[in-house]
Amino acid sequence: AQDVQGYRRVLLKISGEALMGDGSYGIDPEMVDTIASDVATVARAGVEVCLVIGGGNIFRGVAAAARGMDRAQGDYAGMLATVINALMVQNALERHGVPTRVMSAIHMSSVAEPYIRRRAVRHMEKGRVVIFAAGTGNPFFTTDTAAALRAAEMECDALLKGTQVDGVYSADPRKVADATRFETLTYLDVLARDLHVMDAAAISLARENRLPILVFNIHAPGAFPQVMRGEGLYTKIV
Ligand code: UDP
Repeated sequence: AQDVQGYRRVLLKISGEALMGDGSYGIDPEMVDTIASDVATVARAGVEVCLVIGGGNIFRGVAAAARGMDRAQGDYAGMLATVINALMVQNALERHGVPTRVMSAIHMSSVAEPYIRRRAVRHMEKGRVVIFAAGTGNPFFTTDTAAALRAAEMECDALLKGTQVDGVYSADPRKVADATRFETLTYLDVLARDLHVMDAAAISLARENRLPILVFNIHAPGAFPQVMRGEGLYTKIV
């Protein structure tokens, strides 16, 4: 097995936007395949992996509310969007030979198992990658919070947040030329400086449960396995 720095079990949060690739909506099969390949590499190295997938590439409750839709109703639609993404990622992972289970926080027994904590743990112990769909199952939350929640419930050693850039910067490096990248940050730094890594509920939950957050570029092929080995660029929040 490759050196994975003692990581036994990790949760990877993939935003819906990451699945769009270069597009502006929906799912880019090549991008999904690249991510699936990296997840397969980490799983084969002997790390138990679970995933939380966002839905922002399809539907966001807040955006719909801004155009007059009832917020809670919009959020339920957003949670259903994450189920679509979960099925796509499941399909890609199985093409890479990785056994998977989708567990949904909203019951949808024809396409996914209901989320049952102890059963999820059992799946991972058997080497299956578990994909948590439908966020927390509650409106007014995000999939970032769902990721911190599931990572705490699963007693993960780390929460990995795949983003569009290779870590947390002082400002958006795609807009500000002299933005600097942080190697490490504390949870309180992230909250006090309003660094927009994950929402405040997710950061607080991670902090209370002493769950390290590793922020890296999900678009760089091979980055997820590299971060697991302690290589490449990423920001660690502890
Ligand atoms: N959502 C929700 N409760 C949750 C998780 C998600 O209501 O626990 C809804 C919310 O409307 C959100 C949408 O699902 O806008 C998609 O999730 P998110 O915006 O977190 O996806 P991402 O930004 O990661 O693509």
